[in-house]
Formats: sequence, C-alpha cells, structure tokens
Amino acid sequence: MTTRRLYYDDSFLREFDARVLSCDPEVHNGTPSWAVVLDSTGLYPTSGGQPHDLGKLGDAYVLDVRDEEDEIVHIIDRELEPGSIHGCIDWTRRLDHMQQHTGQHLLSAMFQERFGRPTVSFHLGAEICTIDLRGPEPTEEILEGAEHAANLIIQEDRPVTVRYGTAEDLAGQGVRKEVKREGILRAIEIEGADLQPCGGTHLNRTSQIGIILMRRCSKMRQDWRVEFVCGLRAERVARRDFQALRGAAAKLACATEDVVASAERAITERDAHFKTVRALLQRLAEADAAIALQFLDSGPSGIRVVARTFGEESQPEYLSNLATQLAKSEKTVALFGRFASGDLVFAQHPAASQDMNALLKQVLSQFAGKGGGTRDFARAKLSDPAQVEKAVAFAEQRLRT
Ligand SMILES: [Zn+2]
Repeated sequence: MTTRRLYYDDSFLREFDARVLSCDPEVHNGTPSWAVVLDSTGLYPTSGGQPHDLGKLGDAYVLDVRDEEDEIVHIIDRELEPGSIHGCIDWTRRLDHMQQHTGQHLLSAMFQERFGRPTVSFHLGAEICTIDLRGPEPTEEILEGAEHAANLIIQEDRPVTVRYGTAEDLAGQGVRKEVKREGILRAIEIEGADLQPCGGTHLNRTSQIGIILMRRCSKMRQDWRVEFVCGLRAERVARRDFQALRGAAAKLACATEDVVASAERAITERDAHFKTVRALLQRLAEADAAIALQFLDSGPSGIRVVARTFGEESQPEYLSNLATQLAKSEKTVALFGRFASGDLVFAQHPAASQDMNALLKQVLSQFAGKGGGTRDFARAKLSDPAQVEKAVAFAEQRLRT
C-alpha cells in the first residue's frame, strides 16, 4: 500500500496520527530494530540530497526513514502493535534541513539565472552543505554575486509554494530541468526566482531561510564544489569564524581587521630573523673553531682531534658549521655530540686520512641509532640521547688506537 506523505502538503506538520500497517524485526547498524510501515507519515525519508527526519512513533524512537518506491519505511528502536499511533518530528533538525534545502534552491537558481552555472548535485551534510556547479571556475565575483542576489530575495520575503502538474505542464511554466517521470509531478516555486521539480520539504517564505553564507569553492572532478550554510547554521559558523579571528588578533596583538597585515609582518620578520641567526651561527662557528685550534696539539699520528659534547643551547646547525670549519684545518678531525637530541657529527680534513662513515658505523654497532655519510663527513641520531657522551668517547678512542 502507498504511504501517504503528509509532508508533501504541509511541511510544517510537527505531529500526526497514523495507523501501523506492519512492523517487522530487522538489524540496523548492528542493533536489533523494527521496520514499520504506516498508512501515512509526516516523517521525511532520506532522498534528493536531504537527510531523513528523526522523531518518535508512540514511545519508539525513529532511527532512520527510507523511501522504498511507494512505501516509506521507518526504522525504530522497539516493536509497535498494529493499530493507531501518534507520531512527532524532531523539529529542530527538520527546520534546519528545510533552511538548508530551501536555501539551496534559491542559491542554485541565482547561479543559473545570473551566471549560467547549472547545479549538478546537492549534499546536505551535518556541518555544511555543498552544491556542485558545472562549467569554468566561478570567480570571486560570481560567488559573491550569487550569494548576495539570494540574500536579497530572502530579505524580500517571497512566498515558496508547491505546484502539481505533468512534466509538460511544468515545462510550459518554466521548469528548466528535463523530467522523464510520468504522471503528476510536484514542483517547488520561489516566486519570480525558481521553479523546480522536488519531493523535499521546504519553507513557506524565503525570509525563513534567514541568510545564506558562502564558504569555500574547490575543484571536484570536472565540477566546482561550493560550500554554504543557511539560517541558524550560518549564525553558528559566523560566530565560530569570528572567535577564531579574535583569537588570532589577540595572539598578534592587533585589531581583527589588521590580522592579515599583522600575520604577513610577523612572517616577514621571522624569515629575516632566521637568516640572521644562520649567518650568526656561521660566524660563531668560525670564531669558536679558531679558538679551539689555538690550543690543539697533534697526537702521535699527526692527527688533531676535537672531541666535544654540547648542550641544548647549541643548535644542530651550529655543530655542523663548527665541525665543517674545523675540518678545513690540516689533518683535523671533529667528533661532536649533542645531549638534547642525540645528534652526532663527525668531520675530518681529507689529509687526516680516516673514514668518518666507517667510524660512525662502528659507533652505531655499539649504540642504537641511525645515520651515515661520506669519508669526510657523517652524522647520526642516537635513539637514547643520554648515550651521546659515551658514543663520542668511544669514537675518540677508536681514532687514537
Ligand atoms: Zn527541494
């Protein structure tokens, strides 16, 4: 038997009475549930991009509503006896869906009418809604233009009405979409703006949409996906955005309207400081290398070894710079370690005639870690930074024997 869809004629119906025609057990998302068919229902099933309603049938909670050809199947959490039943609809959820859905009709109409961009799909998500537009990338001007035109029609408080007719009737009245279905069709009209065949639930007047806020636009296969939110969702999103903006402004110690300029300045300064630090680390390494070399004696083999461990205040980059600098000096070898991170850096003057990579491998056979390099320069990271001192001492001892 065909379920009478009460929401077709009254989308503001919040409660209804109906008769239970059948109630069969089934498993829904892994839990035992019941599938109920009524003679009529005010609960909207998932279809046309709009999610199903929630609500109650008697004491039973509605978990899902499915559109199965002529019948609407309600999935509920307990069994219902045959007979009459009182149903009610989760109104906050439904009203939100109607705001998003009616807003979509209006927004799609503006993209089509003003900018010749047809909507090829619609999705009403839990957080945001999207439409996919066909054609070239919409410019900022098109996105803002469609949003603003839609919001003006919202402000004009135009009526939104339901019309019935055959595909031919509706085509004569200006329905753009080609419809292949036979019989009487249902169409939604936004006065002077849009006429679309649709079986969904809609508001009665455009002002009930509240506002449409456009969000991102991104490429989605061959189309352009436009994100938007309507009504109370727009309020939530706008408030969240402003809180984020205010948070950023507080961090940057500036007014909210100066956030972008302030962030740009901060990034430019950071980059400049980074360059300065690099240059200073290099100069520091040169100076420290000169001091270290003053007090360095050659061992019996004629090699000069600088074995040293560094604390947290010495950057890994400084260790590399200093090692490289020392290795410029005749027959000098640098064996460095850093406590904070477990870094090891070995470097030599080629005339020292050792093999830094082989030496590092010997160290890594005794102390867990990863690394490698060349004959003259090698680096590693020990798994346990506490082993750095022992590892450097071990390397130094291997070099002197
Ligand atoms: Zn619709």
